[in-house]
Order: sequence, then structure tokens, then C-alpha cells
Amino acid sequence: MNKIFFTPGPSELYPTLKKHILRALELQIPSISHRGSAFAAISKKAKDGLRRLMHIPDSHRIYFISSGTEAMERVIENCVEKQSFHFVNGAFAKRFYQTAKELNKSPKMHEVPIGESFDMQKTPIPKSAELLCFTQNETSSGVAIPMEQIYALKRKNPKKLIALDVVSSAPYVTIDFKRIDVTFFSVQKGFGLPAGLGILIVSPKALAKARSLSEKLVSIGSYHSFLSLEATGVKEQTPETPNVLGLYLLGEVIADMLSVGIEKIRKETEKKATLLYDFFDKQKIYKPFVKDRRFRSQTVIVVQIPDGSKSIIEKLKKERIIIGSGYGEQKDTQIRISNFPANKLSDMKKLLSFFRNLHSNYN
Ligand SMILES: *Cc1c(COP(=O)(O)O)cnc(C)c1O
Repeated sequence: MNKIFFTPGPSELYPTLKKHILRALELQIPSISHRGSAFAAISKKAKDGLRRLMHIPDSHRIYFISSGTEAMERVIENCVEKQSFHFVNGAFAKRFYQTAKELNKSPKMHEVPIGESFDMQKTPIPKSAELLCFTQNETSSGVAIPMEQIYALKRKNPKKLIALDVVSSAPYVTIDFKRIDVTFFSVQKGFGLPAGLGILIVSPKALAKARSLSEKLVSIGSYHSFLSLEATGVKEQTPETPNVLGLYLLGEVIADMLSVGIEKIRKETEKKATLLYDFFDKQKIYKPFVKDRRFRSQTVIVVQIPDGSKSIIEKLKKERIIIGSGYGEQKDTQIRISNFPANKLSDMKKLLSFFRNLHSNYN
């Protein structure tokens, strides 16, 4: 019997994936040349599909890289000469900031306690910041930043570039790409695919910034700079031998998502999230970690388990249900539950009935 994964990355696979993997092997996809027309068609299908699914305008470029963590490095290298500014409310946002430090930039940040969000309008942003970085869905804490707040900040700072990490909220999150300069995610979370593929969506302004940095002889990296990705991307290629199988599977899964329809996927996500939050809001001990409803993630639900998450995780494992532990310092006192398109409502109900029984055993 199969296990059910509620882990926020790698995650439950998209239900049609097995069929597509078998088909890919029949078609000998892993052996085809990444410089030939068959690969170009795979690359185009994945990009066209992403444009339709996420409403990405033609003005923006789509580049294939290897992970979300790689994206952080690429974004800093290609969009920042000296200073980025980071809104930090958890481990992934901190990683983004740390990346800028390790690349010898002089990043600044505004940090809030884990589980809370920002009062953005009141946050002083240095004039010298070239790029504002947001982890829209902080997977370590279950806090999501409403897109409207980010747009409002962009209106106040029209000259600054905006970078958006949506690794654990894509494709659920609705993005007005005209107001965002670099968006990135990897595919092993919300897309239900194997890891090893990242997506970067780049505005004309961000691409121009990379070009101007390069002209000033600032290093923008080598194998995956925006310029090398652009030069090969226009030919539906990549600088290196890419994850051809991953790209094929991405194109196929997106086609399946398009036939369901993104609006339906979003509605179902919200329905499942409401089910989880309503349930845990009524519990005495196991409460949602994020108190302010405006900032609760719809795709990663974090629950407090003050008497220790280990035994619950183990008990669920015996039922063949795999959930995430807390992240970092919260490892033993929280659990994290993914709510991605591949997570079924019927499985969610199984998970909640486990907690219901647990509760009745206590009383
Ligand atoms: C998982 C995650 C990352 C890292 O992505 P990888 O593909 O594992 O490198 C970055 N940001 C967020 C918000 C994540 O959830």
C-alpha cells in the first residue's frame, strides 16, 4: 500500500506522474539530445504551459535552473551590485539574506519573530537598496505575505527591483507579474514532481540590470547568469545538459493542471486549508502556529504540538501517513502539513480523523 505524503518538500507526487514517467521511458526521453528539436519542443511546451497556468506575460522570460536555493544565488548575482534588502520571518528568507552576504554584497534586513509577519509600510528601507526580497510563503513557519502588501511597497519604491520566492506557494499563489521582477520556485513542492528543477521568471528590467552589471564588469556568475540563460533560452536550450526528464514531466503535469483549471485548483486548495485550520482552531492543545488569519499560508499549515511532535509523527507513520516535523528550532514542538494540488481532500480527512481519535483517547 502506498504512503500518503503531507511533507512540504519533497511532497506527494501529482497523481498522473507515474503514467508520464512510464511514457517518458517508452519515448526514451532521457537519451535525446538537449540541442535537438525534440528537446526544443519539450522546453517550449513547459514554458508555454507555465505562461498559461500562472498568467506570465510575454514580456517576462522563463529560465530553467536546478533548485530554489540556486535561484537565490542567481537573483542576487544578477540583480544586485551592492545592496539587497530582505524581509525575514523564517529560515528560507534568512537563507536568501545569507546568500547575499556570502556573495560579498552588503545586504540589509528587517526581521520579525517566527510565526509573525511584517508591517511593511512602517519598515524603513535604505535608499541604496537595489532589490527587495520576499519569501512570499515561508515554509519554515507557515506565514504567507499577501501579494497586495508587496504591490503596495512596490508602488512606494517604483525604482527598486522586487524578488519573490514562491517555492512552496506556486502554482496556487496569484501573481501580477507586471509588478514583480524576479519570481522563482522549484517543482518538488506544489507541482508534485521529482526534485532537481527550478524555474526563474525574469522581467525586462531585471534582465537589463544583469546586462548593466556585466558591462560594469561586476560578476553575474558564469554557467547560469541571466545572460547565458537568455542566450540559450531563445533557442529553447540551456547552457548545460539540463534535467530533460524533469522538464518533460513538468510540461505534462502542467497540461493536466490546465485541464483541471487553475481556478478550480485554487478553490480546492482553499477548501482543504479551511478544513485544516477550522479543525485545529477548535483543538485545545494542538493549535495553528500562525495566529493572525491574514498571514496564514494556504499551502503549508504549521500546527503546535507542545507535548512533542515525534510520537505523533511516528504514530502517523504506522498509518502510512508521512507529515513534516517542525523546522529548525521548532522541530520537536510543531508539525507541518502540506496542502498542495496533489494532496487529496479524502487523505486530508484521514489525517484529521487520526487527530480526532487521538483526542478522544486523551479524554
Ligand atoms: C524548499 C524551499 C526553498 C529551497 O528550494 P530547493 O529547491 O530545495 O533548493 C526555498 N524557499 C522556500 C520558501 C522553500 O520552501
